[in-house]
Amino acid sequence: MATLDFLTEQLDDLRAQGLYNTIRTIDSPMDGRIVVDGKPVLNFCANNYLGLANHPRLREAAKRAIDAYGIGPGAVRTIAGTMSLHVQLEKRLAEFKGAEAVITLQSGFTANLAAIPSLVGKGDVIFSDALNHASIIDGCRLSRAQIVAYAHNDVDDLRRKIAETTEYGRRLIVSDGVFSMDGDIAPLPALVEIAREHDILLMVDDAHGEGVLGRGGRGIVDHFGLHGQVDIEVGTMSKAFGVMGGIVAGRREIVEWLRQRARPFLFSSAVTVPDAAACLEAVDLLEESDELVQRLWSNAAFLKDALRGMGFDTGRSETPIIPVMLGEAPLAQQFSRALFEHGVFAMAIGFPTVAKGAARIRVMNTAAHTQTDLEEALAAFEAVGKQLGVI
Ligand SMILES: *Cc1c(COP(=O)(O)O)cnc(C)c1O
Repeated sequence: MATLDFLTEQLDDLRAQGLYNTIRTIDSPMDGRIVVDGKPVLNFCANNYLGLANHPRLREAAKRAIDAYGIGPGAVRTIAGTMSLHVQLEKRLAEFKGAEAVITLQSGFTANLAAIPSLVGKGDVIFSDALNHASIIDGCRLSRAQIVAYAHNDVDDLRRKIAETTEYGRRLIVSDGVFSMDGDIAPLPALVEIAREHDILLMVDDAHGEGVLGRGGRGIVDHFGLHGQVDIEVGTMSKAFGVMGGIVAGRREIVEWLRQRARPFLFSSAVTVPDAAACLEAVDLLEESDELVQRLWSNAAFLKDALRGMGFDTGRSETPIIPVMLGEAPLAQQFSRALFEHGVFAMAIGFPTVAKGAARIRVMNTAAHTQTDLEEALAAFEAVGKQLGVI
């Protein structure tokens, strides 16, 4: 067999730089408090914004659906794998988000791989925010269109790049809605204006806005009141919805085209029966009440204010994602390990997920945390911050 020394070296290199991912194992349901590697801890790592990953109603809905439909779809959706649950989910999501139509995919990642190459290709141009999510970047690459990155959330730079790019077939502007490492929000109203002015397609990936932004968690388009003005809204059901699955919401023709041509739709099976049923229940729950969304935001505001008050730098967060900026990756890793010893599970994030020198602890708030949980977490942050000379 071929030698793998190059991998051994690269792995050693990661360890030396403090960039090696140690993957923890969870021995409990995903919640505000979980058991990690056998230790009960407070959980500030998950994208489980509303605590739906272990919600009794979603658990029950999944069980009922298994009794009625079994588990797997058994084929790709175009052949025999579309169940009434999948159809119903798409209809309910479209109503919830106020979109013309919705197609669901296996994940948010695949939704980007499905949407972008279906709309643009060779000879076309994509204007992409410099900090866009990896799945957007991969979707762009897969399309073989020219990719022009513009400075993060910088609409003047976007305008410049559009003016400079004179050779194109079709054009697409694509941005994350909420940027997952900093918790800042894309300037969607300005993007809509630019897209309209230049007749460019506009796509936003609302993975961290779904269930978080807008009325009752209807997402970034609702947050800015831009219904009918964004061509494509990608989303995920693996974050606030607490399950798994990708969403492409938007104009009817686009969704119809994706059903005909999107490769992850044509050549990969759909989410399972319990997934689809639990997602449907999540939509019902969000339509009935915004209580969980409210709790998420009030928890986040409390934690953010208190961390700032202690002297931590929480960057440019405008959402329940709170980065605690620490600088170098080894310090962030050391900080995370010390927090864990204090019973708080919060991930260190370093290069290549964020820029070198911008390592941080990313604190993910949820509606599943109680006031006591938050106070305990803050005490741990204060102790570790002082211990490591950060505050
Ligand atoms: C998390 C995330 C995804 C991927 O979603 P999955 O459903 O986990 O595949 C895609 N885009 C953005 C912006 C994300 O934050």
